[in-house]
Amino acid sequence: MKRKEKRLLQAVALGLTALVFLPNVGLWALYRERQLEGGPEGAEAAAAARAGVAQGQQRRPRKDIYFGDGQRRKDWHDKEAIRKDAERVGNGEQGKPFPLTDAERVDQAYRENGFNIFVSDKIALNRSLPDIRHPNCNSKLYLEKLPNTSIIIPFHNEGWSSLLRTVHSVLSRSPPELVAEIVLVDDFSDREHLKKRLEDYMAQFPSVRILRTKKREGLIRTRMLGASVAIGDVITFLDSHCEANVNWLPPLLDRIASNRKTIVCPMIDVIDNDHFGYKTQAGDAMRGAFDWEMYYKRIPIPPELQKPDPSDPFESPVMAGGLFAVDRKWFWELGGYDPGLEIWGGEQYEISFKVWMCGGRMEDIPCSRVGHIYRKYIPYKIPTGVSLARIRNVGTQLCIGTKHGAPGSPLRLEGCVKGRAEAAWSNVQVFTFSWREDIRPGDPQHTKKFCFDTISHSSPVTLYDCHGMKGNQLWKYGNDKTLYHPVSGSCMDCTESDHRVFMNTCSPSSPTQQWIFQYTNSTVLEKFNRNSDL
Ligand code: UDP
Ligand code: MN
Repeated sequence: MKRKEKRLLQAVALGLTALVFLPNVGLWALYRERQLEGGPEGAEAAAAARAGVAQGQQRRPRKDIYFGDGQRRKDWHDKEAIRKDAERVGNGEQGKPFPLTDAERVDQAYRENGFNIFVSDKIALNRSLPDIRHPNCNSKLYLEKLPNTSIIIPFHNEGWSSLLRTVHSVLSRSPPELVAEIVLVDDFSDREHLKKRLEDYMAQFPSVRILRTKKREGLIRTRMLGASVAIGDVITFLDSHCEANVNWLPPLLDRIASNRKTIVCPMIDVIDNDHFGYKTQAGDAMRGAFDWEMYYKRIPIPPELQKPDPSDPFESPVMAGGLFAVDRKWFWELGGYDPGLEIWGGEQYEISFKVWMCGGRMEDIPCSRVGHIYRKYIPYKIPTGVSLARIRNVGTQLCIGTKHGAPGSPLRLEGCVKGRAEAAWSNVQVFTFSWREDIRPGDPQHTKKFCFDTISHSSPVTLYDCHGMKGNQLWKYGNDKTLYHPVSGSCMDCTESDHRVFMNTCSPSSPTQQWIFQYTNSTVLEKFNRNSDL
């Protein structure tokens, strides 16, 4: 064989080998693509079906796959928009607190949303925000060719201006070519403004779609419904009361472009639920964690793991939950969320653990910031029966309140506050009777970790750190309305005269041993339970 022919043959052989073995070209890639169609797409369709969406509905052709590293980078800042934002003046502009009068601080303002909707209504829908990113973020470059994203915003009875501000902030602070669509998914809201009025308003934005669940599904199945119809390369989940900050999107998509198994979270800033001032959470060098009770918390990153440049992405063991971006196909390869999850809480662990077990990673991205309104209290009904407001005593007509109950001190009775809104929350007359069979002040998600505790058949009932081990924190609610404590075999009792709550020999006919749990969710709870097939 001549030398030239030999070299040609060698080249052909090399090419063939590459075709077979290299992961991103040739046969493997073809094979993988085919697998994906049967797998994740199947999961996607199943999710759509479960969530009650007609299949094949509104599907548009897919964009080509995007490519990872090794490409040119560019500055994605929208300088013109930033300059215009800087010039804005007025209430709430630059993320400044709105000057509240006492009249605007009334309970009514918070009742429907858990934040002050009067103030929200007075602030521009496209208000400007302070750029509180690390200064290094200004000079960061991201891939010129980024995947686009569907932005999925589930909502249940969201306020008008808070929902619209979410959409406006996304539209005005995202490069249009990166937003494939914004999908608003209505989780069976009953407020009038979220119906035709919302549809009419959104008609001016061709990229906004509205979907609706057929029954109350809770946050998880609502997100899944949105994800199942998404057309973007990436899906980005936001809450319905957020404000995207300057250049928030490219840093997220850039990380996914270079590793599609990365789930990325923006830094979540705080929009005050009173005056709507915009500020950072305490400490940026924090990462997600959870304790033995599966409560999410942020803990400091150990110095040896901190990046030399604090504006660089860093890994987090668990994500915060609400706001993140994920490659769409990877999301379905992971199986999406477990559709049995109700309302919210715990979903971030489910997805985080799956990511770790399937070879992915989770990152927080300091140069991407999104504000979120942390509510004063949960305004909507939670239909699983774990949450309740007020424990009222039949004999005295007084309620258990824990505002002044320091841990260790006996529980006391106080006058029942009306309703389930702010007053009930600030007097801590709201309790959770959870699957752990303990009773704790606060709502099921953010509950204070104190539990009703008693040590003997005649001792006072105190608040003590929850141990989750039942024992002296285990309570049963009987048909006779007693709060029975199996360990001591006695019942919760109280006196009118000194308002103390203590244990006593059970005598179910005694009105001071009868307690009424007043659920936060009476009518909607009943409706939900009728509709729910679970
Ligand atoms: N949500 C929903 N269905 C529900 C409860 C909540 O679609 O049954 C939406 C809600 O409108 C919000 C997101 O899910 O966009 C997260 O809920 P929320 O903001 O109440 O949780 P938080 O941020 O207070 O933890
Ligand atoms: Mn929220």
